[in-house]
Amino acid sequence: MAEELTPMMKHYLQTKEENKDCIVFYRLGDFYEMFFDDAKVVSKELELTLTGKACGLSERAPMCGIPYHSADVYINKLVSNGHKVAICEQVEDPKTAKGMVKREVVRVVTPGTNINMTALDETKNNYLMCIVCVEDVYGIATVDVTTGDFFVTQVDTKRKLIDEINKFVPSEIICNDSFFISGVDIDDLRERLNIVISAIDAWYFGNETVQETLFDHFKVKSLEGLGLADYDAGSVSAGAILKYLYETQKNSLANILTIQPYSIGKYMIIDSSSRRNLELVETLREKQKRGSLLWVLDKTKTAMGARLLRNYVEQPLIDKDEIIKRQDFIEDLNNHAITREELREYLNPIYDLERLITRISYQTANPRDLIAFRNSLKMLPPIYAQLNDLSCDLLREIKSNFDCLTDLHDLLDKSINEEPPISTKDGDIIKDGYNEIVDKLRRAKTEGKQWLAELEAEEKEKTGIKNLKIKYNKVFGYYLEVTNSYKELVPDYYVRKQTLTNAERYITPKLKELEDMILGSEDKLVSMEYDLFKEIRDEISNNIARIQATAKAIAKLDVFVSLATVAEKNNYCRPNINNDGVINIKAGRHPVVEKMIKNDMFISNDTYLDNNNNRVAIITGPNMAGKSTYMRQSAIIVLMAQIGCFVPAASADIGIVDRIFTRVGASDDLASGQSTFMVEMNEVANILRCATSKSLLILDEIGRGTSTFDGLSIAWAVVEHISNPNILGAKTLFATHYHELTELEGKIASVNNYCIAVKEKGDDIVFLRKIVKGGADKSYGIQVAKLAGVPNSVIERAKEIVEELTQNDITETVKSITVDVPVKKSKKTKSPKKLDDVDSNQISLFDAFNNMNLGSNEVIDEIKALDISNMTPIEALNKLYELQSKA
Ligand code: ADP
Repeated sequence: MAEELTPMMKHYLQTKEENKDCIVFYRLGDFYEMFFDDAKVVSKELELTLTGKACGLSERAPMCGIPYHSADVYINKLVSNGHKVAICEQVEDPKTAKGMVKREVVRVVTPGTNINMTALDETKNNYLMCIVCVEDVYGIATVDVTTGDFFVTQVDTKRKLIDEINKFVPSEIICNDSFFISGVDIDDLRERLNIVISAIDAWYFGNETVQETLFDHFKVKSLEGLGLADYDAGSVSAGAILKYLYETQKNSLANILTIQPYSIGKYMIIDSSSRRNLELVETLREKQKRGSLLWVLDKTKTAMGARLLRNYVEQPLIDKDEIIKRQDFIEDLNNHAITREELREYLNPIYDLERLITRISYQTANPRDLIAFRNSLKMLPPIYAQLNDLSCDLLREIKSNFDCLTDLHDLLDKSINEEPPISTKDGDIIKDGYNEIVDKLRRAKTEGKQWLAELEAEEKEKTGIKNLKIKYNKVFGYYLEVTNSYKELVPDYYVRKQTLTNAERYITPKLKELEDMILGSEDKLVSMEYDLFKEIRDEISNNIARIQATAKAIAKLDVFVSLATVAEKNNYCRPNINNDGVINIKAGRHPVVEKMIKNDMFISNDTYLDNNNNRVAIITGPNMAGKSTYMRQSAIIVLMAQIGCFVPAASADIGIVDRIFTRVGASDDLASGQSTFMVEMNEVANILRCATSKSLLILDEIGRGTSTFDGLSIAWAVVEHISNPNILGAKTLFATHYHELTELEGKIASVNNYCIAVKEKGDDIVFLRKIVKGGADKSYGIQVAKLAGVPNSVIERAKEIVEELTQNDITETVKSITVDVPVKKSKKTKSPKKLDDVDSNQISLFDAFNNMNLGSNEVIDEIKALDISNMTPIEALNKLYELQSKA
């Protein structure tokens, strides 16, 4: 069949074969065409008309196309839908090509390698991540091609890997095959985080390929030279990701200059559900920035600053000295408020230098980009001058990387027009005075006629031919016309071109010189300007290292100016950082809720936790009292302190925590098909397994999803487990509806009761939002229901029932309550079982197994082998779950 295909179609199919996982955009004239299945997919997704093209076979090939000049929009759409697009260009001029025009794939655009700025959120990095799973170790390399950032690490558990994925939220993950069978929930990553995940060929991960790629790119001879000596798996992922970038970008990746290996031990560990619950960078429900911690902290002026701040928020530190360095910077800036404000002004006009330099080095930057770049560079010297007033450590680091780049600014200032076109091929790019030839060509365009008139006058004067005229025709171009009456006066240097009946036409060398200048001027000018533009762009690109370092310095400066501004405007304080495990917050506020509440009505509260008698706080109080706000605010204040920020409190001592775990409502997980209780217990199990004595736990209503007795027992056992320094001993805020838990205060030294005060006002309650020592004596559920607008009749009835319940034994009372609702006679209403009845009525577990007719007694044997007296309730519950799945 292949013989019958047209040569073009053969080439197309070969290209497609080499780029199987991509949609191939095949350039034909002014269009990119797609064929066969690609055409079907694309026509559907982009709502394009599906046509056909004769391809040599009896049936036409399905085809759809898009104009090349608007391709970006379509490519972005397809890429954001998760496709990879291979762009197959004409790589020779069709006018001069002999035979079929040569075409080749010049770039593959994938979600993680898209450098088109219009498709990207400038306040977020666009990461590509490569995960390699080697035995039990995961190598993780993460690159943002648009900025040149390149991070590498490796971790030894699946959970830590998931934490890294949640931290970076890459738009694309490439991996080896083993990753797919590692047990990581790939579908969850795809659906929840919208990540495109694909395995790449095994050869990418081969030792030789990896080393060769890394060594060649970074011009080093060993992994030590890159700081990767201790990252075996990390190096493999780094080499593979780089190779993948070469394969897709098909250029020198000049903007990737360094590799940053990091140990995850450097940062606080926050698991994915805690990240979501604490609403660090987006809200839980609407998934938007407004309402998140980042929203409050982000007053950055540049895209680079916005991205860096997001990274800071996603990765709080655990090293005291590093935190203090950041605090010093904020304090320094706030001690020099005028400098800080000036800096804000100067930072404002700075464009995204990191992404601009990437476009410049990828040769996709247009003349307007260069002007944006120049305008940004203009701000650097005044910014640098402001830094003289500041003196902290971080500032010194920033200064040492800060290059005012005046040479590049001056180059652009004298060479590129103030308002150039976007296109590089239409001229009007180069400034007057920059290049002599450009100036001359440009003058030829406007002054050409005048030059001709001047020459005509000059020749008339010289020869005395009074009616001498310079004229133009398509055959000879410009010529001098002399009528026969003046024939004798024609000088020798006139070269005759044509004889007419009553006149002769001549040319002179000077006239031809002028003609050259005038006639080709337009084309020559355009191509000359294009060449110069490219030369200037390349010159800028040669300075990429200086520019990137300065961009990073600007980003950092922007972040700290933002944090300082926010600290001052919101009246935050500088927390003391300690390694003794004491968390002592005075008059703390929730940074987001206080912004949402009108008229400064937010009520501040203290938090005190330590490693002795104040490890666990049991918090009771009615719904809506503010328990969860209080707990989150405590966690967020700790987190902010470890980011290096100032915090919303009158004063704060923050003992560094290694992890923060939160367990709050699980409504968003319902879709996953697990019962709410199971999700809750999974999370509890995870927390108890992963927390350490240095962790901070926020537990909201553990045990709520099951019967009261079970729930209470689980909650009780969890508190015992957490508060025991020999088992876990983590600092914990524990909100509960089980008032019985307040009994633990007297039993365990490190447990203390708190409640959120409410005031009774007749039948109603008023929320005071103040946390006080002691347990709440009532839950005020009915009052809260009333506040929420539950109908009065229901409220009144609930009051009656509660009255009876509180006076008597619950089970007996429930039985005795008379119900005033018509009951269907035909169906026998079951009376609730008394607890004592349960045993006699329930079939024994072993009977159940016998009835199931199991082939083996494996499950029963396992149950018999359990050491129940040494199991925690959670362990028991997990075991039961495990057994159930086996049965
Ligand atoms: P709970 O967890 O006890 O049900 P929440 O923490 O959800 O209560 O608080 C309910 C509402 O009360 C919040 O949405 C907030 O508007 C308000 N609130 C909570 N704490 C405070 C406070 N300290 N000052 C002012 N309003 C608060």
